[in-house]
Amino acid sequence: MTLDSPEAQADCLGKTHWLGKVYLVGAGPGDPGLLTLKGKTLLECADVILYDALVSPEILAMINPQAERIHAGKRRGRHSLLQTEITQLLINKAQSHPVVVRLKGGDPFVFGRGGEEMEDLIQAGISVEIVPGITAGIAAPAYAGIPVTHRNYSSSVTFVTGHESVDKYHPQVNWQAIATASETLVIYMGVHNLPHILAELQAAGKDPDTPIALVRWGTRPDQQELIGTLATILAQMAAAEFEAPAVAVIGNVVHLHSLLATSRPLPIPRAVE
Ligand code: SAH
Repeated sequence: MTLDSPEAQADCLGKTHWLGKVYLVGAGPGDPGLLTLKGKTLLECADVILYDALVSPEILAMINPQAERIHAGKRRGRHSLLQTEITQLLINKAQSHPVVVRLKGGDPFVFGRGGEEMEDLIQAGISVEIVPGITAGIAAPAYAGIPVTHRNYSSSVTFVTGHESVDKYHPQVNWQAIATASETLVIYMGVHNLPHILAELQAAGKDPDTPIALVRWGTRPDQQELIGTLATILAQMAAAEFEAPAVAVIGNVVHLHSLLATSRPLPIPRAVE
């Protein structure tokens, strides 16, 4: 499609717009089978695609081969593009291309800056639509046999970032309140800060025997799990040389791992190169 025509354009989802449109698409946690049908359709018809570091290669392989691909991804300490540059690029691309896809790992609105990008695009007069994805904080525990809620173990769950912002304009996480606020805690971006987080939770009264699971590369063929307690997990991590990216699940639901992990959906193995 081009934007030369004065007519409104109907894109692959049948949506009509005069200028380009940005779709903020969640790629899910890694297993390509967990991408939404809407997300897949958009990948196949995108003219431009900006994607993040945690999007899996199988999903990148679904992208329209003619599309312009831009790696905008961030991993801890390694920024490919600044957030302001990403937003400006999305604005520029949407002014000259009908379908611009901003592809993010998991769900764009869960610790993915999707809200900020959407705000900036709307302020710049660009049409934008959200396509939610399955978030790692639910899917990675699920593939490790851990339901984040369960009638016998937990009727509440809190999703929290372990990467506390040093920026004074962003609120600090209140670990004291979180320690007792809900039965299950799911911590994103917490591997690096785990010693600090565990100390805060225990200082706030969380039992050192509370079970914890770390799930790395959840739903991918190389998924790795570490199961322990608040008291033991740091030594286990050191022994296993466990690294990010992983989610941490804290609470009694982790007990279910030993029973449910036996029939979990095993990720499809990646083809050997
Ligand atoms: N928007 C994403 C989260 C982005 S923040 C989502 O909804 O899932 C990045 C953090 O997400 C990582 O540091 C890690 O804590 C978690 N994460 C993302 N993909 C993951 C995966 N496949 N397995 C385990 N954790 C993952």
